Amino acid sequence: MLKKLAIHGGAAVFNGNWPNWPQSTENTRRNIDAVLSNHRWSISGQYRGQASWEERFGQVFAAYTGTPFCIPSSTGTASLTMALEACEVGAHDEVIVPGVSWVASASAVLGINAIPVLTDVEPHTGCLDPVALERAITPRTRAITVVHLGSALANMNRLVAIARARSIPLIEDCAQAHGARYADRHVGRFGTAGTFSMQHSKLLTSGEGGAVITDDAALARRLAHLRADGRTLCVQPPGMDEMALVETAEIMGSNYCLSEFHAAILVAQLEVLDEQLALRRSNAAVLDSLLISLGFSPQATAPGTTARSYYTYVVRLPQSVVETQGVERFAAALAAELRLPCKTMYSALNQSPLYKPFSRKRFALGKAFADAVDPSRYQLPIAQAFSRSCIALPHRMLLADTDAMGHVAAAFEKVAGAIDDLCA
Ligand SMILES: *Cc1c(COP(=O)(O)O)cnc(C)c1O
Repeated sequence: MLKKLAIHGGAAVFNGNWPNWPQSTENTRRNIDAVLSNHRWSISGQYRGQASWEERFGQVFAAYTGTPFCIPSSTGTASLTMALEACEVGAHDEVIVPGVSWVASASAVLGINAIPVLTDVEPHTGCLDPVALERAITPRTRAITVVHLGSALANMNRLVAIARARSIPLIEDCAQAHGARYADRHVGRFGTAGTFSMQHSKLLTSGEGGAVITDDAALARRLAHLRADGRTLCVQPPGMDEMALVETAEIMGSNYCLSEFHAAILVAQLEVLDEQLALRRSNAAVLDSLLISLGFSPQATAPGTTARSYYTYVVRLPQSVVETQGVERFAAALAAELRLPCKTMYSALNQSPLYKPFSRKRFALGKAFADAVDPSRYQLPIAQAFSRSCIALPHRMLLADTDAMGHVAAAFEKVAGAIDDLCA
């Protein structure tokens, strides 16, 4: 006798509490207090006798990733925008974008009036496919963006080789991969620049936030100007209550500044990142083996990965479930068993309900542009299959006790056992 599914009113597999996300520490509160009492709430506020939190976060995150330069920014989207513009990408340029990602990977490209060229992914990682990349490059390609998706890292060895051979800037979108390492180096260091998001759901967060890392001093200087309306921080500290931003106007920028509150939170959150990542990794290893023995396929990562970070725990469901259009129902049933949001993967970008270039007048740039950005012109069979067959569990699940991994596996088993019932 099969047990009644929780979604049909049966008893849930797990009724306990999952860890919350985000989590703050004593230092998070202490740092916010320090901002409040210092009377400088932005780098564009007057100097108050010490380096801004924004500069301090830039320094500690640069050290953490092993890069010489880190420019904080207001969001991951702003970081991508700045990185593209710092690479002198702009109107009507083609930019390679992997076919599965959060909408911002494509909308940020469109945001600078460039053309996101949606490109297919590898079947087991969901990350940019090197073969598809080579096919997608044209004489108008001005940048390649790579996304490390979910718990996977993209195949940087091959992707970097292609970008180098053609002298095309490569930007790594690491919004989902804080702390991940490839060939023993932190992600974001393999191309021209690496971008991060510190939005609420990410592995390092201040609610909203972002950063760009680079080894290139000239690029870092352009990034600094792009994020602060064409100003950059002066080298020598100014006098008390004077402006620390100087109007060099080397390049016109926008206001993508990270506030002092956000930066102060990030300094504290970074202190506990590695500990959280280690816990997620060891729980993911336990869950991987439980799920594999039940016939599920946890997301693979590219050869060369030395440390994964689990933004989402992605699982491919068996073909039988996919064929009965059962993935969405499986995710909903699993969520009910675990009392945890379990979601289907993002739609492939050519089918994403959020990716709508024609819904905003600013992108009405003529027929040639409209034809080039039309999502319906893309065929992304692997991306579509990946999106249709995978579900994603939130990373806070992996911060639970190791025992809880047994509950997760039991919920997968229970739902899989009742799949006929579920899809009837
Ligand atoms: C979250 C995310 C972004 C956008 O970051 P925001 O801070 O929300 O602007 C971009 N790319 C990927 C892959 C993301 O996951």
